[in-house]
Amino acid sequence: MINTKIIEIDPSKLEEGNLEEEAKIKECSEIIKKGGTVAFPTETVYGLGANGLDPFSIKKIYEAKGRPSDNPLILHVASIDEVKPLVKEIPEVGFKLMKTFWPGPLTLVMEKSEVIPREITAGLDTVAIRMPEHPIARGLIEASGVPIAAPSANRSGKPSPTKAEHVIEDLSARVDAIISGGSSNVGLESTVLDITVEPPVILRPGGITKEMLEQVIAVVSTDPALEKDHQDLVPRSPGMKYTHYAPKADVVIVKGSDEGVIAKINGLVAELTAEGKNAGIISTEETKAQYSGGLVKSIGRRNDVNEIASNLFTILREFDETNVEVIFTEAIEETGLGKAIMNRLLKAAGYRLIEAI
Ligand code: AMP
Ligand code: MG
Repeated sequence: MINTKIIEIDPSKLEEGNLEEEAKIKECSEIIKKGGTVAFPTETVYGLGANGLDPFSIKKIYEAKGRPSDNPLILHVASIDEVKPLVKEIPEVGFKLMKTFWPGPLTLVMEKSEVIPREITAGLDTVAIRMPEHPIARGLIEASGVPIAAPSANRSGKPSPTKAEHVIEDLSARVDAIISGGSSNVGLESTVLDITVEPPVILRPGGITKEMLEQVIAVVSTDPALEKDHQDLVPRSPGMKYTHYAPKADVVIVKGSDEGVIAKINGLVAELTAEGKNAGIISTEETKAQYSGGLVKSIGRRNDVNEIASNLFTILREFDETNVEVIFTEAIEETGLGKAIMNRLLKAAGYRLIEAI
């Protein structure tokens, strides 16, 4: 058992150069420098950080999360210059992408250099690196003076945390400090892009969409193992093979026309209720009034994919607090950020998807 310090930092005050907030960042960076663990907000989700160049610090992350040791971590840097010593070379396309999307939710996989401990990469020859935008994340990395290894700050198997309360729930007494700094506004993890191959391959869809990448580099492919119909393939990103985001209830996605989906879900909920079981529904603002039974939670407005992304993990955690046994969710259109949302929903559902006619 560790005595976990909860440290509240206001990101906007920090950006204004408030000395009190800067002192709290300094305190957290001392913990990192001494080999400890600090959970902190980023714009994607909360991360659990430790000195990314120190194998003992890195091991603490795996222990606190209960993370399988074959699932590599992302290294977080505060500037493009810090990347050079961590990799063999930065491919031409890498510079272009960093200049366009950093700081932001894009992680780049490159050939690793000798300074990277094998504990980070789980034995792979490549390393995943990202420069976050969140002022607390950047402040902490700068003050620590080392790249920070940081996977999502949840216990393995739980949805990624987008609020400090989620982290406190999962990691209290397991880490040295948790920075409470508001909600993560993207709400989904970063896009992981392998740039060691030509054309680059999306290993995990996320905050930076395929469409956005294609405006900078003409051709981008996606790991076919991520598609629903290719469950026989092994994903190239080790983390994607695990059933992350799995809530306690079974999740079923229902896809089709609006009327078809609503009628199908209402029918399935009625059947379950008749069996004495508790059903939950993930609806949108526009459809929530049309469900006649079950516990309905709206994920946001149809045309606001950012709002839907930022609510997804919170809703899955909220259902864990209820006695709902099956959650039916409307499918989200798979364009732009919708691709990443559906990827997480499909994983939560163990790929159970029903077509409504
Ligand atoms: P998390 O930070 O918990 O969201 O997980 C990081 C994700 O990045 C996991 O899915 C990892 O498998 C993936 N990842 C990290 N390093 C690499 C790498 N070198 N090659 C491919 N995927 C990686
Ligand atoms: Mg994770």
